[in-house]
Amino acid sequence: MSNQHYPHMLEPLDLGFTTLKNRVIMGSMHTGLEDRFWNIGKLAAYFAERAKGGTGLVITGGYNPNRRGWFYPTAGSFNRYGDIPNHLRVTSAVHKEGGKIALQILHAGRYSYHPLSHSASAKKAPINPFKPKAMTEGEIKSTIKAFAKTAKLAKMAKYDGVEIMGSEGYLINQFMAPHVNQRKDKWGGSIENRMRLPVEIVKETRKQVGKDFIIIFRLSMMELVEGGMTASEIVKSAKALEKAGVTIMNTGIGWHEARVPTIVTSVPRAAFRDATARVKKELSIPVCASNRINTPEVAEEIIASGDADLVSMARPLLADPHFVNKAAEGRGDEINVCIACNQACIDHTFELKRASCMVNPQACHETELVYLPALKKKKVAVIGAGPAGLSASTVAAERGHDVTLYDMASEIGGQFNYAKQVPGKEEFYEMIRYYGRRVETTGITLKLNTKVEEQQLKASGYDEVIVATGINPRTPPIPGIEHKKVLSYLDVLTGAEVGKKVAVIGAGGIGFDVAEFLVHPGAKADGTPRPQSLAEWREEWGININTENRGHLVEKKTHAAEREVFLLQRKKSPLGAGLNKTTGWVHRAVLKMKDVDMIGGVSYDKIDDDGLHISVNGESKVLDVDNIVICAGQESRKDLYNENSKSPKFHLIGGAEFAGELDAKRAIKQGAELAAAL
Ligand code: NAP
Ligand code: SF4
Repeated sequence: MSNQHYPHMLEPLDLGFTTLKNRVIMGSMHTGLEDRFWNIGKLAAYFAERAKGGTGLVITGGYNPNRRGWFYPTAGSFNRYGDIPNHLRVTSAVHKEGGKIALQILHAGRYSYHPLSHSASAKKAPINPFKPKAMTEGEIKSTIKAFAKTAKLAKMAKYDGVEIMGSEGYLINQFMAPHVNQRKDKWGGSIENRMRLPVEIVKETRKQVGKDFIIIFRLSMMELVEGGMTASEIVKSAKALEKAGVTIMNTGIGWHEARVPTIVTSVPRAAFRDATARVKKELSIPVCASNRINTPEVAEEIIASGDADLVSMARPLLADPHFVNKAAEGRGDEINVCIACNQACIDHTFELKRASCMVNPQACHETELVYLPALKKKKVAVIGAGPAGLSASTVAAERGHDVTLYDMASEIGGQFNYAKQVPGKEEFYEMIRYYGRRVETTGITLKLNTKVEEQQLKASGYDEVIVATGINPRTPPIPGIEHKKVLSYLDVLTGAEVGKKVAVIGAGGIGFDVAEFLVHPGAKADGTPRPQSLAEWREEWGININTENRGHLVEKKTHAAEREVFLLQRKKSPLGAGLNKTTGWVHRAVLKMKDVDMIGGVSYDKIDDDGLHISVNGESKVLDVDNIVICAGQESRKDLYNENSKSPKFHLIGGAEFAGELDAKRAIKQGAELAAAL
């Protein structure tokens, strides 16, 4: 019987020799746990949790079939019989929970971060200092065998299938796209020659694993790089790969070196579904859509519309391993939605740290951060319903403590309520919705519009008091700071009237956010910017689904900025240098697109009716702006914290504890860890 809530997403998929229990695949994502055998138990627990949560099929992070294909020396490979016992621990943990699991095989080619890398041609990737060697015919043949051998080992380790990584700019892509593959032999030139490597890999893999084994191929459905494949080359490759023996065609979008964002939060939801739909029309095997699909509604709609047969979600299942079961039980509003920030997952991977999730610090730490029922029920007060306070209060209440959550504001969310106003950060609404529901389901007593006094805390008989009162924006000591032109970022993000020419003081994460807010068109009733439509977003980044241009790239069409903005900092380093690794470049590119004047090495002399007086390299000038917005960081607000009190015991977390580099990732993790130990 079909599920009444999301009937298409939850419909089983019969593959002939096996059946997936629904249409949700957990896409491959490197967690860092794959690389060390002593982390296998943690990896098994991580995947088992997603299987327990109802996911139809999970795919591991990429395993290299040979050393040349290593991401970096010592990255996870799977090419020896001796590796099988470790993998059996993972597969049996998933099968025990009624799930299925496929192993991804990935050869990094010229993205390999070591001097022995090789690729179709000796062409260095713009994001890697190592120049690859062009592969010999013998190396190509042994690589095909290596892929197939890994697949055979995966079958022996009881995986249900493999995914061959043919997208995101890795080796297979490098052969398929002419800007990297400049070979003159049978492996280069025409598309028939360029797709020979993946087709031979699939044929050889099918030969080694037999008929009853899932082979997923992750095909680049839009390359987003100059000289990438054309739309018709992509379709031609898909057909040939189907014929060679692929069971499910998965979607990859863009190369890692592409300068078009593909997964960050400002990318509209399901932005690339039509690229998948175009390929699906030409194939008879199931096709899976991917990228920025993060709610059951979006997943259901894609499958119901016929654009895809399945959806792949990686980060959303990091954020909530029980996504599928919650959806199936009609508890979609309890799903902890991935906000596509990359802060704890992909940024960690790029820094060679273990991945986790900003909104779910248990991700990849399932055996370490455990919310056990409390041994003794305590009376707990949490002051502040921002990220830290929400995290601490909900975990404490889930564990069985009697929790009261206070906030002076009329709604929960703290700084999230400002972040959600930033164009492209609308996903923050989801966090507030999620926590609102968690407060209800865990039985917290919520007291909004309430100012708490220390005396009251003592008198109420609390055992524990968690101070999560957050921050106050810093007011820099600039002469004239009281001038009426001066606004704080909080004023701006809550709809204060702002003129057409604006200077922003401070170029941290919030300075960048505010500058984006100011240049985007305002259209909502409260004067705040409206979200960009998919069509506008594509025009601005120069991508077109219907073009035959290589890489689907067309001329960019920048929409005029709403205001003239100056973004300033005292440091001489490039502006935005401290932003997150995988998202900072997008923020810098957007502001550049909108002609924001970014100036470093600034001294702020004074503010008066003429505007903001600054000196740069000893030269004085006046920015004749209508408003000056202060985004100069924050200071902790901790008046309620009493470190000497024994009863109740006080704890200080989040921005209230340390405002520098305040961020929600640290706040949520700190709140959860404290509450897990109460
Ligand atoms: P921040 O990153 O610490 O930046 C504060 C800015 O103010 C810096 O540019 C600093 O640059 C300037 N500043 C500091 N003291 C000043 C003073 N006395 N006078 C004038 N300028 C001063 O703080 P934030 O921008 O408020 O962001 C807070 C945190 O929120 C970030 O660390 C980040 O974790 C998080 N966040 C991240 C993002 C994102 O990644 N997109 C977005 C929003 C928030 P100079 O000292 O060089 O002038
Ligand atoms: Fe999603 Fe951010 Fe969590 Fe990554 S860290 S899974 S992007 S919410």
